[in-house]
Amino acid sequence: MKIICVGRNYAEHAKELNNPVPDDPVIFMKPDSALLINNKPFFLPDFSKEIHYEAEIVLKVSRLGKHIQKKFAHRYYEEVTIGIDFTARDLQQQCKKEGKPWEIAKAFDGSAVLGTFIHLEQIKNRDSIEFGLKKNGVEVQHGYTGDMLFGFSRIIEYVSTFVTLKMGDLIYTGTPAGVGKIQINDHLEGYIEDKKLLDFYVK
Ligand code: ZN
Repeated sequence: MKIICVGRNYAEHAKELNNPVPDDPVIFMKPDSALLINNKPFFLPDFSKEIHYEAEIVLKVSRLGKHIQKKFAHRYYEEVTIGIDFTARDLQQQCKKEGKPWEIAKAFDGSAVLGTFIHLEQIKNRDSIEFGLKKNGVEVQHGYTGDMLFGFSRIIEYVSTFVTLKMGDLIYTGTPAGVGKIQINDHLEGYIEDKKLLDFYVK
């Protein structure tokens, strides 16, 4: 199983980090050891002073595919959830400055938080899925997948040009504006529409 992530997929978020809006999806990966499931607590690592939450819609790949055309891409996922792409922002800024890869900032243990999957049919507006993240009871991120620069189909088409997608692979589709720092004892809750699919603490 692999975890594929898309960076800078919402214009407002690219802007808040002073990144240019890309021409093609920006792709990176996390190992399966990054997964954090079942609302288990996230333990703040000591190698970073600035871990940011990034709430994202996550697709679960439902069949094997390579060179998937955009028009067929919707056949490759049936379930979605909300997840968090935890990012060591201080390390990432350093990596960017030095032209190094992002793994130490993005692929660490617990950095891919995953909510409970729901079937697409359980979502009222599938064309622009509404999602949000609360920190300590206050909404800090709120987005609609209709605002993505690259939609699910384009992401699947682009990624499958380079790597074979397998059943069970996860695709984190990018975060809207509002990312921020977490600290010990923060309580994070993730929603798709009115369904709470994620609920855990930072320890
Ligand atoms: Zn992200």
